[in-house]
Amino acid sequence: MDPAKRARVEAWLQYGEDLGIGPYFRDRAVTPGNDGASPALGPAPLSQGFAANAAAPPSTTPGRAFALGASNLMPPVALGAAEPSLFEIASRIEGDTLERIREDIGADCARCKLSKARKNIVFGVGNPKADLVFIGEGPGHDEDVQGEPFVGRAGKLLTQMIEAMGLRREDVYICNVVKCRPPENRLPEKDEIATCSPFLLRQIAVIQPKVLCALGACAAQTLLQTTQGISRFRGEWFDMLGAKFIATYHPAYLLRNPSAKGEVWKDLQKIMTVLGLQPRRR
Ligand code: SF4
Repeated sequence: MDPAKRARVEAWLQYGEDLGIGPYFRDRAVTPGNDGASPALGPAPLSQGFAANAAAPPSTTPGRAFALGASNLMPPVALGAAEPSLFEIASRIEGDTLERIREDIGADCARCKLSKARKNIVFGVGNPKADLVFIGEGPGHDEDVQGEPFVGRAGKLLTQMIEAMGLRREDVYICNVVKCRPPENRLPEKDEIATCSPFLLRQIAVIQPKVLCALGACAAQTLLQTTQGISRFRGEWFDMLGAKFIATYHPAYLLRNPSAKGEVWKDLQKIMTVLGLQPRRR
């Protein structure tokens, strides 16, 4: 393995160690040198921010890559490199599938304290070969009850966003950093993220999307390993795990701040450009 590649692998493994998920990868011998109904939408219909703009073609202006200081980000992984990407290495976990990941979580997972109050484990839903994966922070009340991510008011708005991009909800994959609802809709805590996020990484490795889109600060900060506010890097492209990564605001934030719809639509347009999508015609 050449020194640059080794450095990236080691940095990525260190990221796993920092999150407390190193054992997951070590246990699998993936190591350097072993390559073997519409919601109430507030003052203005939130869908307008997406659908009304859908007539405009996606922006072709590329996002600035690696805008954040490198000191608190995981190192980028070059896209299109001839050598296997770290994502590809991770994907070599032998025989891994979404079904196996679900089985590994189990029906009664109690690995972290979020198990105490949850009704259902919310694994993820959508196309197992999706080009686009949306990642939120964790299930809310409706998701906990139904066992499916993004099915409440924010979820319906996410569906509108997806459809404005010219896709159907079932075309993409939707999941969360943690699979169980944090009490009182609080943010997942560090130990909960560290315990549950290996399952997310496995889901990403199995799906191998072209684009990862973090919805909200928690998912973005977890995946970018940064404490910076999302407004510092929202809409910027990063290379991550063999995919292109972008963060945008959470649909729940848009329900509270409809004026941010335009910014999110710009982010979605960037994704559409990468994926060659045309906006939905009304
Ligand atoms: S959040 Fe994840 S690790 Fe914690 S109990 Fe639920 S499935 Fe298990």
